[in-house]
Amino acid sequence: MLRETDREIYLALKKEKEKQSATITLIPSENIVSREVLEATGSILTNKYAEGYPGKRYYGGCSHVDEIERIAVERACKLFGAEHANVQPHSGSQANMSVYYTVLKPGDKILAMHMSAGGHLTHGVAANFSGLFYKPSFYTVDRESEMLDYGKIREAALSLKPRVIVCGASSYSRTIDFSMFSQIAAEAGAILLADIAHIAGLVVAGIHPSPVPHAQFVSSTTHKTLRGPRGGFVLCRSEYASGINSALMPGIQGGPLMHVIAAKAVSFRDALRPGFKAYQEQTVNNCKKLCSEIAGRGYRIVSGGTDNHLFVIDLVNKGITGLEAQELLESVGIITNKNLLPFDPLSPKVTSGIRMGTPSITSRGMKEREMEKIAGWIHEAIEHKDNNPVLKDIKKQIRRFALEYPIYPAA
Ligand SMILES: *Cc1c(COP(=O)(O)O)cnc(C)c1O
Repeated sequence: MLRETDREIYLALKKEKEKQSATITLIPSENIVSREVLEATGSILTNKYAEGYPGKRYYGGCSHVDEIERIAVERACKLFGAEHANVQPHSGSQANMSVYYTVLKPGDKILAMHMSAGGHLTHGVAANFSGLFYKPSFYTVDRESEMLDYGKIREAALSLKPRVIVCGASSYSRTIDFSMFSQIAAEAGAILLADIAHIAGLVVAGIHPSPVPHAQFVSSTTHKTLRGPRGGFVLCRSEYASGINSALMPGIQGGPLMHVIAAKAVSFRDALRPGFKAYQEQTVNNCKKLCSEIAGRGYRIVSGGTDNHLFVIDLVNKGITGLEAQELLESVGIITNKNLLPFDPLSPKVTSGIRMGTPSITSRGMKEREMEKIAGWIHEAIEHKDNNPVLKDIKKQIRRFALEYPIYPAA
């Protein structure tokens, strides 16, 4: 056991477990997986090499992992109504890379959402492979409404003629019109990639429209609202099935993580169950409640509110940067992350905003009443940011509160 053989890792892991239990996680990309997902992720499947695909492996002894991957693919297709699924991407970033690798050549043009408006690193940011290998252009949100302006996106698409248009985001709190994006892509002669890394769980629950009928490719993570293990997957039309499979392997990855694929299959089955829809609805209701409670205390919310599991607070009129707010809130036991505002004058390392979301606290059983309390603590901490006794008292209250909602309740 680690406890005896590797004290360093054992103790750090133990402290992390205590921290997760005694704090409140408002990072919208994090969640708490089921015990079954943990069990599969920590299983002996990590011992197995399985380069290739079920029935066509480059290694022997794959009959059982073949069965597992077939089940995972079948469940993913059923869950999203997709023609083809590849469950091998190690992460959401690799899912996107595999789509680019399938349809783009180096130097080809892509059009995607700017990071300050909510786009992801893999949507063409200069420091990322996607900005280095391809030629990115960006659309952003309208300055006034801070929502997507489809007229402008259409203009950009028609004048640029990109090979791929990417829609989907990491910090956009509004519903995305995938059907509109598909019309724009068709007019511009572009392929549409819908990246639903954040909202996959909402899509499954029918709370956010699905991109599957509209986009040639859909990429996602499994670990955000979908509440599965850390990983990614790609859905596509049958015509691209063999392309995406060979892009993943041998194109950009070697052996798949079969323990993670088993855990993905487990989480896909969880998502097929009726309780999953109720969980996603509660996540969104909690988010709307938390958002309105915070707005009610004098904070400006980007775009004025939220339709999904997350929102971004503008801290400009509060005399505190995103980085300072993140550190302040962490000091009282609320884990969040700083986030750029659309057109943010500050750098991504500092930012003028902070992003919050409710998947993790909803998994712990919190409801609207708890959102009022959390909003109150966030406001109190920011109001008393230089008053240590007050901050200490808030931290104590949060600790007591968080422990009432165990991350893994005793069975
Ligand atoms: C989180 C995210 C990803 C990538 O996820 P990783 O697993 O961290 O690589 C891709 N796209 C979007 C929009 C995301 O929010």
